[in-house]
Amino acid sequence: MNERARSLGNKVVKCERSQIDFDIAVIAAGASQNYYGIQGAESTFAINTLEETIKARRFIEDRNPERIMIIGSGLTGVEVASVLAESLDASTYVIEARDRLLPQFSQQTSHLVESALARKGVNVLTSVQVSEVKEDCILFSDGVRLDCDMAIWTAGLKPPDFVENLELPKNQGWILVDNYLRASFDVFAIGR
Ligand SMILES: Cc1cc2nc3c(=O)[nH]c(=O)nc-3n(C[C@H](O)[C@H](O)[C@H](O)COP(=O)(O)OP(=O)(O)OC[C@H]3O[C@@H](n4cnc5c(N)ncnc54)[C@H](O)[C@@H]3O)c2cc1C
Repeated sequence: MNERARSLGNKVVKCERSQIDFDIAVIAAGASQNYYGIQGAESTFAINTLEETIKARRFIEDRNPERIMIIGSGLTGVEVASVLAESLDASTYVIEARDRLLPQFSQQTSHLVESALARKGVNVLTSVQVSEVKEDCILFSDGVRLDCDMAIWTAGLKPPDFVENLELPKNQGWILVDNYLRASFDVFAIGR
């Protein structure tokens, strides 16, 4: 069913075109991109949905970009950089605000992955904060500007709009659940 849930409560899910009564609801609405309010970031490419990934792929095939910036070096950013470096002649950059790649993992993992990317020719820039994304370049908070033909945003996720509007217990916007994934008496939440 091509339908979007808008709100949930009092045993009913209200959708765009219909509403459905429930005894138990399970929320599995995933996540959306977090652009942190950075100017121009929303116009970058993303690969967190199939549609967005196809759009990025078409751009690469049609425009053959020579300089590709991947903003964010979590698992997604690192994987995208690795695949692009293997399959394209483009100069590929990974840009990370923290002081190392994969900052959520151990230092040893970061170093191993950084070496692997370097062997593939990926340029890794750490401790740099993107302040604005323009069509042909990226600007950093220290005033540096790097030209690019394509920017791909992999810098973080946030709860989807649907979850933002729900009145359930939350931690930093994400639904809080107990050990049984229960968020309230009749609502469970899973996934991300
Ligand atoms: C490039 C990439 C590589 C990855 N590789 C791995 C991997 O190797 N291993 C791994 O474990 N994980 C991987 N992941 C992460 C994995 O894809 C996610 O953890 C997983 O998809 C989350 O599942 P989910 O069901 O919570 O959310 P999603 O898969 O995002 O599904 C949520 C669904 O809910 C729908 N939805 C949202 N809001 C509404 C609404 N209001 N009404 C109705 N429907 C709605 C969305 O359209 C979507 O179809 C990868 C992610 C990326 C981007």
